Amino acid sequence: MSQAQCIDGKAIATQIRNEIAASVQTRLQQGLRAPCLAVILVGEDPASAIYVRNKREACRTAGVQSISHTLPADCSEVELHRLIEKLNHDDSVNGILLQLPLPAHIDADALLELITPHKDVDGFHPYNLGRLAQRRPTLQPCTPYGIMQLLDRIGEIYKNRHAVIVGASNIVGRPMALELLLAGCTTTVCHRFTRDLGYFVRQADIVVSAVGKPGIIKGEWIKIGATVIDVGINRLADGSLTGDVEFNIARERAAWITPVPGGVGPMTVAMLLKNTLTAADNALKNANNRVNNT
Ligand code: NAD
Repeated sequence: MSQAQCIDGKAIATQIRNEIAASVQTRLQQGLRAPCLAVILVGEDPASAIYVRNKREACRTAGVQSISHTLPADCSEVELHRLIEKLNHDDSVNGILLQLPLPAHIDADALLELITPHKDVDGFHPYNLGRLAQRRPTLQPCTPYGIMQLLDRIGEIYKNRHAVIVGASNIVGRPMALELLLAGCTTTVCHRFTRDLGYFVRQADIVVSAVGKPGIIKGEWIKIGATVIDVGINRLADGSLTGDVEFNIARERAAWITPVPGGVGPMTVAMLLKNTLTAADNALKNANNRVNNT
């Protein structure tokens, strides 16, 4: 068996971002506004500040407008509540992103639920997750949505394939399972209480690992010809980044594999832009429908 082909998430994300930039240009030529993303950052967590900076830069290069709301770490939940309500009612804002994690005194779930589902460009709102569960996706959680784009672009066939997802978080594992189920896979979800993880991974035609533990997916478990998607981002003692999968062994068995970094990571930001564009398009359709119904 030859080595697996690497799935170049960076190149695919660039392609998607270019497609979004072209759609934004078309909107502008039609006399419409550029889509607008409001980003809320609370406190001074350095990693969050970098993520927000990257997202704003991605917006800029795609022609998406972004506005920042930076609040001090000791701001109150009421203050955030008011800000989200204001953005919910602001017709010039298409997407609202609340950068996580939030300081411990703030109930992140309650605030995420306060974002109007039509502007929930992270796709975390129970409405959007519910729509995905009911096979009628609207704004889809960015990381699983990005992984589906990677799988589509390598020609994954889904039906008759067994997908094993390792990790069951609200933002990656669970919505990933819903996406793959919707696509026609037989789907198994493993998590911290799963006994004998290897037993399940060995059966997988598609493995998606979103745990955050380096080497938890043993290379020898990978079925010959499988597709391996590594969502994990782990920093090693020497400062380098690695995924959850034993990459060098897994790539000798898999047909396709994502590297870390350069696999899933770049797709998450690309899909955030895509959701912002979708939200702007939907807002326009709704406004036109209102006019037609008057
Ligand atoms: P999380 O901590 O919320 O969830 C981890 C999941 O792993 C849990 O469901 C847990 O049950 C499971 N788990 C823990 N130990 C396990 C074990 N021994 N066997 C099987 N399952 C086990 O994490 P998350 O937010 O879903 O993120 C997971 C990883 O993905 C992290 O490394 C994170 O940095 C990365 N991530 C990457 C992107 C990206 O854009 N590439 C986006 C989000 C998260």
